[in-house]
Amino acid sequence: MAKSKHEYKALTHNNQKLGTEIRVLNFGPSVDPDVCVLESSKTHPDDESCDVESRCYNDNLESVFKTLRLRLEWLKKQDPETIVEMAIGELKIALRFSRVMWFRISVNGSVPTYPSAKLISLLRDMLGLLRIADVAVHFPVETRKKAERYSKHLSDLCVVRASVSYGRFINADYAASYVVKRRYQTPKQKLAVTRKYLLHDGLAVKANCQGDRLAVICPFEGYVAKHNCKIGQVPWQHKCTACKACSDDSKQIIFLDT
Ligand code: SF4
Repeated sequence: MAKSKHEYKALTHNNQKLGTEIRVLNFGPSVDPDVCVLESSKTHPDDESCDVESRCYNDNLESVFKTLRLRLEWLKKQDPETIVEMAIGELKIALRFSRVMWFRISVNGSVPTYPSAKLISLLRDMLGLLRIADVAVHFPVETRKKAERYSKHLSDLCVVRASVSYGRFINADYAASYVVKRRYQTPKQKLAVTRKYLLHDGLAVKANCQGDRLAVICPFEGYVAKHNCKIGQVPWQHKCTACKACSDDSKQIIFLDT
């Protein structure tokens, strides 16, 4: 039997309900200096690095799940342009046969720090397809400068959201997210943080953000924190696709690490 040209597909997918799915595009492992802007690899003039580098939940997962790690390592060895070309082909087929409800870039790792013109052009083709099919896109990156680098070419097709420190978050006049530190804290500290952020019954809060953007707590992580439950117990109403805040330029997102 002929060996397939590629060992893996570019996209992974989760089935939602019959005929509907979420698609994910990764470029490599998390906390990887080749794709992520880390404290040790940050360069002037960016002068910023990933705010959650030392508590990245994916880093742990990727060391436990061997299949996932192998796949991410394989993705890292491919040209980013090749990955997006493959993704476009896979997406065309997926859109023909099912309803893609949500497209997430970089669940693991990040996009290349300095995208080539060809990569931008291919991303535009891919995002154009998603736009025509009315698929919401979550495109997070780990610094504001990186967000700017992508956003200036892609902002008409999707929101590129910067994950930043609290200080930057409350002053941000661009799409941003902030991850509240709960992990590696004592149960008492965790509870105090949860109370502070889930002050009201609703899972949305207004924060002192600049501009007109409304800050919302991710309902998925809010639910886990509030009910102290496993992620598999979160009802669909609190998950991506029911919530599309990350793809919405008018929202600032607060994540509570679980
Ligand atoms: S805020 Fe909404 S869209 Fe963003 S990760 Fe949470 S559930 Fe998904």
